[in-house]
Amino acid sequence: MIVYDSESHISLGDYGILIPVAPDRSARVLSEIETRLAARGISRDQWLASPEPVELTRGDILRVHSPEYVERLYGPELEQAVLEAFELIDDQGKPHRYAPETAVRSMHELFASMLRWTARSYQAGVEALSNKGRFCYHLGGGAHHGHYAFGHGFCIVNDIVVSIRKLQAEHAVRTAWVIDLDAHKGDGTAALTQGDESVTTVSIHMAAGWPLDLPEIGPTGVPHPSYIASDYDIPVAAGEEAEYLPRLEAALAALDSRDKPDVAYVVGGVDPYEHDGLPSTQSLRLTLEQLVARDAMTFDFLRDRGIPQAWLMAGGYGERAWEPYVPSIEYAVVHSLGLSD
Ligand SMILES: [Zn+2]
Repeated sequence: MIVYDSESHISLGDYGILIPVAPDRSARVLSEIETRLAARGISRDQWLASPEPVELTRGDILRVHSPEYVERLYGPELEQAVLEAFELIDDQGKPHRYAPETAVRSMHELFASMLRWTARSYQAGVEALSNKGRFCYHLGGGAHHGHYAFGHGFCIVNDIVVSIRKLQAEHAVRTAWVIDLDAHKGDGTAALTQGDESVTTVSIHMAAGWPLDLPEIGPTGVPHPSYIASDYDIPVAAGEEAEYLPRLEAALAALDSRDKPDVAYVVGGVDPYEHDGLPSTQSLRLTLEQLVARDAMTFDFLRDRGIPQAWLMAGGYGERAWEPYVPSIEYAVVHSLGLSD
């Protein structure tokens, strides 16, 4: 099943934020998938989940983020917190990839949409736990850089950990895996679940580059939480693309030695794509075929073990970001419905 909510969609340009996420990314993916599935005779009501939106409470966010940070998000410091999370002001105090004069919406609207988007990631987990195919893809979500006390890397609230904590609090799940396939290390998720045996994290990512190019020790002498290890970190250096799939396969095999979780969240970022539009991900350049194989391998691994899987879009930049999502999601929908040829 797919969860899509146009009202939770965030068009960064509306806020004057000049980060190259195509404003129609989710809608384009939805429309392409609909066309492909219709060609197979699969109708929308077979794969589109439309749950009533749930409203997250402040308590849901407080399970994951610090009281001081949550106070900033819900109070007058919201705008400043967003500017920091998106790094919109440079060291000289000047706007950086930010044109506030072009904004047509307020940061409060951005935060409201972000909360709704986070709720949809949680609902994707609920859907994966309850539907027959044990699979749901939220066409949004994946804010894996959100840390305990601050937003980071375009991520204000870590929807992955908020979702897992809410499912745990409701006794819907006890344990979870997070398999993070985005080009960037899932640093916030690793830090937020460090030492917690109920959540196992895997991240396959660029060996160098953001966030692993930040100073390891901050100005106050405290280690930067982006360096906190996932349970399985799989760095891939420039030029090692041929090693990507074998390394992922080995990591999944290593997971097999652990107890099966009640749910898996997969952070399905496609920014490793060779045609991705974010200049800083150019050290990892997977082909369309490699990305589709990556996602099919992960989907099959979880499905073969009967593990409910909730997928999130995460990073994917520029005009061509929609391309890898479409065949991957088509494959997963068709197989989760038991309709493969
Ligand atoms: Zn990314």
